Amino acid sequence: MKTSRPIRALISPAAMLHNYRLAKRHAPNARAWAVIKANAYGHGQWRAVEALRGEADGFAVLECENAVALREAGVTQPILLLEGIFSARDVRAVVEYRLTTVIHCLEQLELLVRGGRFDAPVAVCLKLNTGMNRLGFTALTLPKAWETLRQIPQVDVTLMTHFAEADGERGIDGQLERFQTMAGDWNGSVSLANSAAILRHPQAHGDWVRPGIMLYGSSPFAEQSAAELGLQPAMTLESRIIGVQELVTGDRVGYGGTFSAERPMRIGVVACGYADGYPRHAPSGTPIAVMGQRTRTVGRVSMDMLACDLSAIPEAGIGSPVTLWGRGIAGEVPADEVAAAAGTIAYELFCALAPRVPVEIGEI
Ligand SMILES: *Cc1c(COP(=O)(O)O)cnc(C)c1O
Repeated sequence: MKTSRPIRALISPAAMLHNYRLAKRHAPNARAWAVIKANAYGHGQWRAVEALRGEADGFAVLECENAVALREAGVTQPILLLEGIFSARDVRAVVEYRLTTVIHCLEQLELLVRGGRFDAPVAVCLKLNTGMNRLGFTALTLPKAWETLRQIPQVDVTLMTHFAEADGERGIDGQLERFQTMAGDWNGSVSLANSAAILRHPQAHGDWVRPGIMLYGSSPFAEQSAAELGLQPAMTLESRIIGVQELVTGDRVGYGGTFSAERPMRIGVVACGYADGYPRHAPSGTPIAVMGQRTRTVGRVSMDMLACDLSAIPEAGIGSPVTLWGRGIAGEVPADEVAAAAGTIAYELFCALAPRVPVEIGEI
């Protein structure tokens, strides 16, 4: 819904395409599933599909219904179901719509074998648990999986795993080793790398990479910024100042009075709160930009508003533009910095963008 309340999320298809191409430049010999689960990390599944359909080698989603909708909208690339099938109906959709499905446990594999009439080859990503301990076959269950798979006359298998610490100090060596041991003399297709591994671990690029967060312009690393990686922000959250208060020393701001002025200061009240998706846990001092200048939030974030320090921005007043995160007319604030201040990651901020925030397509 278009509203006159000034908050907006601007989504940049050009940034998504730029970031996809960057992923491909890092993994030039691999094909890439553009990961568009969770409504493309809050950016809008269809906006991401429109931005990338001319170039993406494939798309990865969670829900079978979404995959079918993509096919019905004319997407011809491979479409991967990241958690696989949940029902016999999903199996029929996999066959009918030529979807690629993860198979991560024997129950799921049996569902597939029982449910399908396989007159065409079925594409399966067989997921191995190499240390994340979330989904996947282990060395103990994998032989049974291979045996069961033989019941499907034509099956096109990719071996897949997911790294738990591709962004961290321990890296991927342990998981990669386990993967190779489990894969044995497998010389078919493999898919291993998320954004962090695409950017940092070229030895794990394999045949299909799976970029997610990097498509949306955020860094998977705590210590390396998106700008340093050459990524462009695909989401900008912006609003305006709707109130101004002059504080004297000792005045408090917001619920709980968690911030008190140490000197006379001027604050602006921004039309953005946790009901818009801004993290309530963002403390005083979280970066924010007003009229092209970076400043800090003050006090607790409330449902519909938050406050920021305008002491050094005397020209700012009611109506002045504010960038909460991203790159907007009011300046640039990396979502990663807001997330770090709030003790979380940009993935969560993007996914939490509230439905009440009007979205516009914009080149920033
Ligand atoms: C979400 C997801 C990805 C993408 O991860 P990013 O860290 O966002 O790049 C890749 N693979 C699997 C299996 C996923 O679930």
